[in-house]
Amino acid sequence: MRACVLTGTGGNPADNLHITDVADAPSPQAGEVRVAIKAAALNHLDLFVASGLPGSGPRFPHVVAGDGAGIVESIGSGVTAVRPGDRVLLNPGISDYTCEFCLAGEHSLCVSYRLLGEHLPGTMAELVTLPAQNVTRMPAVTPELTWAEAAAFSLVTLTAWRMVVTRARLKAGETVLVWGIGGGVSLTALRIAKLLGAKVIATSSSDDKLAHAKQLGADFTLNHRTQKISQEVRALTQRRGVEVVIENVGEATWDESLRCLKRGGRLVTCGATSGPQAHLDLRRVFWHHFTIMGSTMGNAREYAEVVRRLGEGQLRPIVDRVYPLAEAGQAYERLAKGEQLGKVVVEVAPQFTP
Ligand SMILES: [Zn+2]
Repeated sequence: MRACVLTGTGGNPADNLHITDVADAPSPQAGEVRVAIKAAALNHLDLFVASGLPGSGPRFPHVVAGDGAGIVESIGSGVTAVRPGDRVLLNPGISDYTCEFCLAGEHSLCVSYRLLGEHLPGTMAELVTLPAQNVTRMPAVTPELTWAEAAAFSLVTLTAWRMVVTRARLKAGETVLVWGIGGGVSLTALRIAKLLGAKVIATSSSDDKLAHAKQLGADFTLNHRTQKISQEVRALTQRRGVEVVIENVGEATWDESLRCLKRGGRLVTCGATSGPQAHLDLRRVFWHHFTIMGSTMGNAREYAEVVRRLGEGQLRPIVDRVYPLAEAGQAYERLAKGEQLGKVVVEVAPQFTP
């Protein structure tokens, strides 16, 4: 099968990415399905994988990307939820469905949790084999979802939903600060917050992106390159701060995030794109009754809920740009430079229709 693979890590991702033929994804075993991928979408995680994550790392050649959508090509025994020919979304978080966390319904806390494109072969290939629990039929919406939109949906929507709804429990009337509005999780968190009736303060280093954020419902926008965010947030909130901060930047924004929080505020982090080592003054945490929460991906119930919302016409993915498979390296570059607003997608199948 045709695939985009990494043959090493470190340096410029484009230097290690190759479009080549590799062995087909294995035939589906009991409880598995094999999907003919139409499009794959990139996430910041894919940049981390390309630069080399600590730990054992992937075996090379490694098929890249976690997000994807396509058509069920074949199914293993016992699979009843989908049939060959079904158009499906892929949930890239693979759980074992047997550990105590899975049995409690917390699949993204699974002790053997793995992600397509990180620990397992990814979606930027003509075929992917995965558990049947990780595919779901594309909901019918008008206009019909494009393959690019379908591929762009799962990782960021699931991640943002768990952060904003399950973890932060953001309520109508509260105010949330969302950093870096061009990124997929941030953009989706903004839209979920508006669905909940909350007020959103969005930041970016790009005034163009801030203008888009306004169109998507952001109540206030701040340029974090030219403005001191904590001062502006205080000014916008009668000096009280925001109830919730949605973080995925890490080192570069952590201190400011805490300075933006209202007393009793909640901070949820799902990433550290600027670096993982943040300073924390514990006196501020206990004195102000802060709650700091981690979050990664989401469970099966949350995934079903975001797919249901998609079917109702909400949370339709925002696609930044679509690249042909041969230009996957350029897709990585666009993401690495942070130029995107929404998802960067790569078409995989030759008969791709955007
Ligand atoms: Zn488990």
